[in-house]
Amino acid sequence: MVLMHWPPAPILVPPVRVDEVDLTDEGFLEFSSTAYRRAESLDDAPEWVGLRTVPEELYLRELVDLDLEDSRAIAEFTLRYGRLGVYDWADLPVERRRWPAELRAVDALLKRHLRPGETLVDRRFSHVEEVAVHARVVRDATRLWTAYREGRDLSGVVADWESILAPPTVADDLRHEVQRHKVSPEESLARAVGDFFPLLFDAALRPYHVRVEARSQAAQAIPFGFPQGNLFSALCLQLRNHMAENAKYRRCRNTTCGRLFVNKRSSRGAQPAAFKRRKGVEFCSDACMWAQNKRDRRNELKRSAQDRSGRNGSPSKGEGDDQEA
Ligand SMILES: [Zn+2]
Repeated sequence: MVLMHWPPAPILVPPVRVDEVDLTDEGFLEFSSTAYRRAESLDDAPEWVGLRTVPEELYLRELVDLDLEDSRAIAEFTLRYGRLGVYDWADLPVERRRWPAELRAVDALLKRHLRPGETLVDRRFSHVEEVAVHARVVRDATRLWTAYREGRDLSGVVADWESILAPPTVADDLRHEVQRHKVSPEESLARAVGDFFPLLFDAALRPYHVRVEARSQAAQAIPFGFPQGNLFSALCLQLRNHMAENAKYRRCRNTTCGRLFVNKRSSRGAQPAAFKRRKGVEFCSDACMWAQNKRDRRNELKRSAQDRSGRNGSPSKGEGDDQEA
């Protein structure tokens, strides 16, 4: 199986719309008029009202950290980075007549909340469950791809599967072959990748089609024809870009972090591509590098103190050793 990418090169992820969010007791996210705030760390934010640049590797970082059981955390995430999911579930590769029960339940929840005259298309609200459905799809897609890149097999991916999409399985016609050892576990994972991503991206990346945009110099408005992709599409595009460039995933060496990442995120904000170092990068961020270096130094001191006390023949190290170090 070989994945062909079109276009072959990574594509700039367009900024996404970010609105003010109010969380109701029932878990609805009510969007009010677009409030554009220039965020501290996003100094390259676009000048158009209401759009915000998506931080690099958001799909590997903040989305993975997000607690999907915590409505408040979901509301804060939405306020900071934008809305996950569009009106009609059109960004998910599921046929309406095959919707799983969980999707039908969330859809019914949204429909009940519509005000008179409001439609699912123009509604100005979402629900934390709608966000969670989309977040789980991105997480599953990420796990499937990184397992494939790291040469793991399908069973681990299926065990961790959390989204409403059907987990990849060894197709019936293939299962027989696998049992007879004609198809390796790696090959079955490769076929799962080949089954899953064309369908997912066909739905999720639909907003990023070939287009023209009409931009007025004077108006601080979103250009006419600008892709209406929301954060879900943007996160899928981040993943697709890493797939297209066959990016190598690393695991952060900070023992309390251990996350997967591609490029280190600098405390100075996003780095121009030319400055990105990929070789020898061990940490996902400066903060992780500092934390682990501190830990390594402490352990080093402890070890040398123990070595010294070992040489002196005393069973435990004295206070004096620590102060000397
Ligand atoms: Zn880290």
